[in-house]
Amino acid sequence: MPGLSLDQLRVIHYPDARLKQACAPIDRVDDDVRALAMRMLELMRAEDGIGLAAPQVGVLQRLFVCSVPGTDKEGKKRDLVFINPVLQDFEGEDVAEEGCLSIPDVLVRVRRPTACTITGLDLDGNRIALRGTDLLARCWQHECDHLDGKLITDRMSEMDRIANRKALKRLESRQ
Ligand code: ZN
Repeated sequence: MPGLSLDQLRVIHYPDARLKQACAPIDRVDDDVRALAMRMLELMRAEDGIGLAAPQVGVLQRLFVCSVPGTDKEGKKRDLVFINPVLQDFEGEDVAEEGCLSIPDVLVRVRRPTACTITGLDLDGNRIALRGTDLLARCWQHECDHLDGKLITDRMSEMDRIANRKALKRLESRQ
């Protein structure tokens, strides 16, 4: 990531064109990648988010961070970082409201599988595979959508579109 200044990274907002682009795989997990992940965790916490994908800070690479309540057995949050994540072995189906740090004041009811497995690399470059359910699985799917340039606004029903019209207009007029 040449010329990347971590302090200057901010969460970018819809309809920024960078949010609509497919991201490139990361071919080496180095100190730059680790520093980016740490900065993203910081930005995510500052905005009370449970997940943040690299394109949301304008970096078009396949990486996301998350911290979802109920991740471990004691029901606590745990910071997780996934590099080049792939989802598979989907099960179940459920509809729930989702928000996005890049689309403030917009909530969309999204139908998704309730469980899935995620594989990818961790910050040491080791292969990881985890099974997630409910909010954790939903968060992973939302973040992986970001890496493919897909937003919750692409998943809106006609009702969602009407309910969020003003908030989206406001965001569009700010660009
Ligand atoms: Zn999002």
